[in-house]
This record gives sequence, C-alpha cells and structure tokens, in this order.
Amino acid sequence: MAGIYIHIPFCKQACFYCDFHFSTNMVIKNEMVEAIRKEIELQQDYLGGELIESIYFGGGTPSVLEESHLKLILNSLKKHNNISSEAEITFEANPDDITPDKLSMLFQNGINRLSVGIQSFDEDVLKWMNRAHNSKEAFKCLEWIKESEFNNFSLDLIYGIPISTHETWERDLKTLVDFQPPHISSYCLTIEPDTVFGRWQQKGKLNEASEDYASEQFYHLSEYLLKSDYKHYEVSNFAKKGFHSKHNSSYWQQKPYLGIGPSAHSYDGKNRQFNISNNAKYLKALEKNEIPAEMDILTTEDRINEYLMTSLRTSVGCNIQYLKNELNYDLIKNAKPQIEQWISSELCILEGHHLKLTLKGRLLADKLASDLFLVN
Ligand code: SF4
Repeated sequence: MAGIYIHIPFCKQACFYCDFHFSTNMVIKNEMVEAIRKEIELQQDYLGGELIESIYFGGGTPSVLEESHLKLILNSLKKHNNISSEAEITFEANPDDITPDKLSMLFQNGINRLSVGIQSFDEDVLKWMNRAHNSKEAFKCLEWIKESEFNNFSLDLIYGIPISTHETWERDLKTLVDFQPPHISSYCLTIEPDTVFGRWQQKGKLNEASEDYASEQFYHLSEYLLKSDYKHYEVSNFAKKGFHSKHNSSYWQQKPYLGIGPSAHSYDGKNRQFNISNNAKYLKALEKNEIPAEMDILTTEDRINEYLMTSLRTSVGCNIQYLKNELNYDLIKNAKPQIEQWISSELCILEGHHLKLTLKGRLLADKLASDLFLVN
C-alpha cells in the first residue's frame, strides 16, 4: 500500500507566515502541469507497482488549477499507477477559490476529500496573515461545501496568533465545530525566518505569542474537540469516527509514498528523495526528461529517529516491538531513565508495547522525540 502526493506550486498571494514552496507567477501553469505529467511517467516504477490507496493534491494552492489541468494530471496518474478503486483522493482548496460549480467539478472528477484552509474566521486576523480570502468567503464556502456532494472534508485552523485573544480562539473553534467538519487540522502559528513574519520579528516589529498563551489554546482545542466527539489522533489532527486522513496516516505509519512536483519528497520504505524547490529549474529538468531530485540515503539511526518523531505525535504512540523487530533497537533498554522520568512527570504512559504521550506530552512532542534521538 502506498500514497502519491502532488505539489501544485502556485498561490495567489503569499501568506505572511508561510515557508512552503510556491510562486505567485502563474503564467507557467500549463507548462507546470505538463512537467508534472512527465514526472509521473518518469517515476512510474518508484513505488514498484504497489497499490495506491491515497492521492493528495497539496501546495501551494491546488484550487488554482482548472478542470483541464486536473483531468490531465489524474489521467496520467491512472495511466502509470495501480490506483485502488477505494483510494482517498484529497484536494487542498482555499475558500476564495470555492464555488458550487468548482465543488461539483472536483467531485465529478473523482476527488472524494477536501482540505480547506480556513485558518481563522476573524477578519482582522485574516488580513494580518495576508490570506487571500476574507471572513465572509470563509463562511460562504462552508455553506457551499455542506450543500455539495462532499461528505468527507477537513478544515484548517491556526492558533497561537499574537494579535488575537482567547475569546477570538473560542469563537473560531465554536464556529468551526458548528459546521461539523468530519476532520480538523489545527496548527500553532510558528514564525519561520524566511517569511514576512520572520523579517518583522528580526526587525523587532513582531513578537511571537508566548508559550503559555499558545499552550492554553492547544489544551482548549483538544478539550473542546474531544467534547464535540472528535478523536485527537495526532498532535495537529482531529477526526470524527472513520474520517481520519488515510494519506497523512500513511506517512506516520512509514508507508512508502511518491511526491511529484517542485519541492515534493518521496520515501520508498528505505530512503528519501527530495525534488528541487524551484519552479524554473524543475521545468527545465523535466524538459530534458530528468527528475530534479536529490537522494538521501537513510541510515538505521535516521530511520529510528524518524519513527520516534512521527509515531510519538500520534495517539497510537511509538510501538516498541516494531522498533525491536524492524530496526533492531531496544528503546526501553536504551532510554529507561528518560522514559521513567517522563512517566513520573505525566508526559507519557506505557501501554502494552506502546509508548504514548499524554496531552501534556503532546504539546512537547517534537522536543521529547528529539531527546530520544540517536546520533549518527
Ligand atoms: S495559500 Fe497556503 S501555501 Fe499559499 S502562501 Fe498561503 S499558506 Fe502558503
């Protein structure tokens, strides 16, 4: 079982917090679609004919694609891959691109899951983050989704916003839950150096929200969604029963996946491959039938570290038996004092073969995982 990720590297405008790879120059959209199709063909053997159980259109902003582009990409995917008839096919969309016609076009072309970047319902916050949509469009698109054929969709929301308040967060959460999305992803705003916010911060024009402020909002998020019948199945992800993201879960379960498009990553079960994060260079390489990717040969230590990093973020936790059997690593033997200290600090529990972080631990998941890392 495997997944395919397609990176659509275009956005209408740059959100001030974003450090993903994208360009606002859409003149090359047609060439990009052709290059993506070429890469799909060149990479057809990467997954060794595995059954594809999920496809994810991410970005950037896939919803800037037109129907003709989507059809071309999907046809190439079907031609060169063994796609399950039950495959989850997710398409990221921004509220300002969503219309009833667009929704019905996506559904008719086989998209069966949407992921919508709402981020906030607050007009001031949306403006401050330089989102392309406004609050009215956020509400409107949700009404249209509810009226559409899509019953599987996810909404994104950002917390830890320094210009915001706990009241705004409470309002955003309530508004979101009132729409009853089957899936919610919620991330803390982080200030990355190579972004507008990063430059503001360097000039002293922006102060990141305090850790306490962000933690309180994280706890509130988890409690609120738990009460509203969502399972907190990964640090940033919540789902109603049966609606967890198959695609993202496959990353956390170490399943192989192929990433297509500029900046996309791939994993064949042993090593990683990274496509170049530059649209012009990507197009040029594909014109010459070359895949513009660098290979990262993973050592056993890398694989153990990656497993710790991803598994500790999930509600299933880190499977100690898997580490022993697959990667020949005895976590308990090697990190006993550390784990005992976490248990006494209520950061984690041991349940059978699984080491699971508590809610308090999940807040520090990346830091805790890195404390267990092996050094190459
Ligand atoms: S729309 Fe998404 S990918 Fe594009 S700039 Fe905003 S956050 Fe980044």
